[in-house]
Amino acid sequence: MSTNGLRALEAISPKLLHSFYEAGDYQLAFNHHHEETGELVKSFDMQPMCAAQRAAGALPPLKMRWWYITRALEEALPEGMLHFGHKLVECVDLMGPQGQAASSAVGAAGSGAAESNSATYRYELSFRHSGPGATASSAAEGTEAGMTTATTTVVAKWLIGADGGFSRVRRTVRKGAMNGLLFMWVGLEVAAVGDGRAPAFLGTFSWWGSATESQLAAAGADWPLPLRGPPQPLTRNATYMPPANRLSTTGSRNLLTFRNPPCDLRATRDGGEGCREDVALWYMEAQAEAMEAEGVDASPEGPLLRHAADDGGAVALARALRMASHLPPDVRAFMAATPPHRVLEKALHCHPLDQQQHASWTNGRGMVLVGDAVHTSGRPDGQGGNLAFEDAAELAAHVRRHGLGQQAFDAFAAARLPRVTAIRGDCKPPFAVRKALVDGSAFEPLWGPQDLPSAQELEELGLEPERPGPAGESSGHSSSSAGTVSEEQRQRVLAWSLRRCWQIADRRTGGLLGAPPAAGAALVPQQAQQEGQVAAASVRA
Ligand SMILES: Cc1cc2nc3c(=O)[nH]c(=O)nc-3n(C[C@H](O)[C@H](O)[C@H](O)COP(=O)(O)OP(=O)(O)OC[C@H]3O[C@@H](n4cnc5c(N)ncnc54)[C@H](O)[C@@H]3O)c2cc1C
Repeated sequence: MSTNGLRALEAISPKLLHSFYEAGDYQLAFNHHHEETGELVKSFDMQPMCAAQRAAGALPPLKMRWWYITRALEEALPEGMLHFGHKLVECVDLMGPQGQAASSAVGAAGSGAAESNSATYRYELSFRHSGPGATASSAAEGTEAGMTTATTTVVAKWLIGADGGFSRVRRTVRKGAMNGLLFMWVGLEVAAVGDGRAPAFLGTFSWWGSATESQLAAAGADWPLPLRGPPQPLTRNATYMPPANRLSTTGSRNLLTFRNPPCDLRATRDGGEGCREDVALWYMEAQAEAMEAEGVDASPEGPLLRHAADDGGAVALARALRMASHLPPDVRAFMAATPPHRVLEKALHCHPLDQQQHASWTNGRGMVLVGDAVHTSGRPDGQGGNLAFEDAAELAAHVRRHGLGQQAFDAFAAARLPRVTAIRGDCKPPFAVRKALVDGSAFEPLWGPQDLPSAQELEELGLEPERPGPAGESSGHSSSSAGTVSEEQRQRVLAWSLRRCWQIADRRTGGLLGAPPAAGAALVPQQAQQEGQVAAASVRA
């Protein structure tokens, strides 16, 4: 996670961000090893940068496990908001591009919920799901292995597509036409809900796997040599690339390995597998030419997810191991010990930058896209998730300002298009454009009273005990409207949040992140942000 994603989360809820620092991982060195001999080529020590960040009032660096992020976000939502196992299979714009005939179309489509207020519902979404979750509006379709498969249809006034790189919302192009009282398809092309674009194959495949320390031991394997040794509170890593490569993953093939310490799961509802011991993670990329040279099929056709547990993780693991034949024996043995069901293979796809237009984000008819659905870069370049968090914070701020509707979606798209394009467009070290934009991130606070510190917490941190917060203390997020948080309150909350983050990070790492600031040196965030940019510029220099 980088500053922009962390700041966006903080804008949504500082306490949510603090829970991430409680559960996340911390890494202070990035080690580049020779891909054939395993010798250390270069070690990048991030401790001075971390100390500079601290002195400048920036947030501590943080690594998160993806499963934890999704779980923490799920748990932060009100009960019953999420419906798991429901796959969107159809998405129809009931009004079409001209926006007429909504009422009869919705009624004839048979959505009971829409009939009472049909003119206002624009989209009809069909979700396929299994199990006993069928509702009155669900049509049972069949039985598979004792489970009922059903389709539930819902209607919506406004549609936010957050369904990832292969967004169904974005890709849906329906043929059809409205015809008075009847809603029937007559084979005419009607505007897509989105711009209809699917991401393009990047010519690169990726694999990733994970194993607990005991799974490695059970398979008779050990960590790669650089990751061996007693447990440590920090994440250790070893990257295997040609010696001439920079510390980036842009070569014809590369492997990243990590040894993560146990993850603190107190904040989660149901814990997680294998996080009470060290966990091995590895990620490998190979370009199609390198695969063809090894005789490994690299055809561009086929789905994003090529091989997973369903069709035998063993296939993915075997293909990964063939691409790992040049690596040192300790590394190959480590990879081979990964339980096959914990290995995935993906063909990398991206939405090309030259296809980023206002119309890619919103169709002007009540639909907006966020995250990978609109701007996936395909390769994990450290920004996809961060930009998705930015999207969430920004969209919420625009909706609060303009109300839920097309005006908010247009303002959101207009603000996001240049920023996302600039960050994504600067994708090679030293990331001068990207770094300045990321480090200088600031988002409008969306806090509710439940996100704010108690007077006692403020006192403990040496901050003024007066409880900051938006007007209307007893209400939640929804009542906090733009302008209710004064600049002074905002600064105080950010100062509190910054201190909390460093306090947690110091506790989690035994104080290894860098020298703490001198007593009383708490910076106000605005000043800190300016100084952070200066510090970032000097680090780049
Ligand atoms: C190996 C790897 C490492 C990465 N590392 C980083 C990193 O270090 N930093 C970073 O910022 N980013 C990283 N990324 C990128 C990051 O994971 C993505 O950019 C981010 O997940 C995008 O979030 P999203 O919510 O837009 O999409 P997703 O996370 O893809 O979520 C989309 C959701 O929609 C659901 N969905 C999709 N289709 C349907 C349908 N038809 N019906 C119902 N539901 C549907 C999916 O199940 C999923 O839950 C990495 C990615 C990978 C693969």
